[in-house]
Amino acid sequence: MSPIRQYQKTDCRHPALVAIKLYGILLVACFTLAGCYLPSFTFQSTAKLDTEAQSVVTTEFESFRETVLFDKSVAIDKPEVVSDTSSSMDSTSVDALFPKDLESIVRDSGNIDYCRRIDRKLKSVTLRNCLLKEALDSRFRSKRGKPIYYVQFEAKAEKNPLGKVLVLGGVHGDELTSVSTVYLWIEMLKEYHSGLFDWRLVPIVNPDGFFKPKPTRTNANGVDLNRNLPTYQWNQLADHYWKQRAGAAERKYPGPLAASEPESKWLINEIKTYQPDVIVTVHAPYNLVDYDASDRSSAPQQLGILTGKSLGTYPGSLGRYAGEERNIPVITLELPHSSHMPPLSETNEIWLDLVGWMRQHIDTQNIAGRSFNHCNRSPSASGCI
Ligand SMILES: [Zn+2]
Repeated sequence: MSPIRQYQKTDCRHPALVAIKLYGILLVACFTLAGCYLPSFTFQSTAKLDTEAQSVVTTEFESFRETVLFDKSVAIDKPEVVSDTSSSMDSTSVDALFPKDLESIVRDSGNIDYCRRIDRKLKSVTLRNCLLKEALDSRFRSKRGKPIYYVQFEAKAEKNPLGKVLVLGGVHGDELTSVSTVYLWIEMLKEYHSGLFDWRLVPIVNPDGFFKPKPTRTNANGVDLNRNLPTYQWNQLADHYWKQRAGAAERKYPGPLAASEPESKWLINEIKTYQPDVIVTVHAPYNLVDYDASDRSSAPQQLGILTGKSLGTYPGSLGRYAGEERNIPVITLELPHSSHMPPLSETNEIWLDLVGWMRQHIDTQNIAGRSFNHCNRSPSASGCI
């Protein structure tokens, strides 16, 4: 027997070590028993904090000043993992999910199948969340014929509206958290929309990339939609930039022509007809907030957990097309992870700070006298029937 093994054997018999072992066994037993009581304790704590968060959100829409009361150190939920597991759901179980007031939406909505597919794809978005607010058909179709839906919360004239906000998720189909986040905010607006802003939220700009079994950044043609918009001198710059600066990475292929993709055509039309005052586009996973506009002095320094950082713009990107060339500020939220949702408390913080920024910085002089009812202004606009 080696000296080392002898030492260990002798050491184990030492009375002090025996006492430590017994103490360890006692500790394990204590933790096991305590674990039986843990779930109920956790449930109570979460329920209380959820209530607090909701009251804070309500407060925000009434008076942003009061949001400083929110304790940002409080973590409400565990991170949600976005899953890609499939589950079937027949119409009977769909009906069973809904209270009476939602039945009409379920029955009338043309997007039940769409929501079922989202329910299967994202752990954090349920069929009920998806159908909670009626989705409108933009009448545009992706390369593979999938509709691009949006949800509208109209401004209220009596609130002296401040502006129109276009919120985009799923521009890159593999950034699943961007889709989940837009749905969370739709849910929040459904509850707390004050009418101060006119909101148009598009959860999935790139449905072909998103709905693939293994989602892709690019669309069905393999084009990066955030490089395909017709920015100045796209023909001279886009391909060159892709090859020289992006290493000709497939994920960043700008396409054969500017605005060659149906999803790009939809976005161009959307900006033209909806005329947003600010565009919020949700991406992942760089964990920052970027800002593009002709004047960057108003760039947000911090939105919740996201710190301001300029990434620059690219030929064909939305930041260059809308922010720099059309002076429609573009706020790019880069969430920390593409497939793991941040805790709900952090998503709420980003939202609260975002609305706070808009209250301070949307240029109301630009929108004085504008009609906020997009259907009245332009009956042929998308979604107006
Ligand atoms: Zn992205």
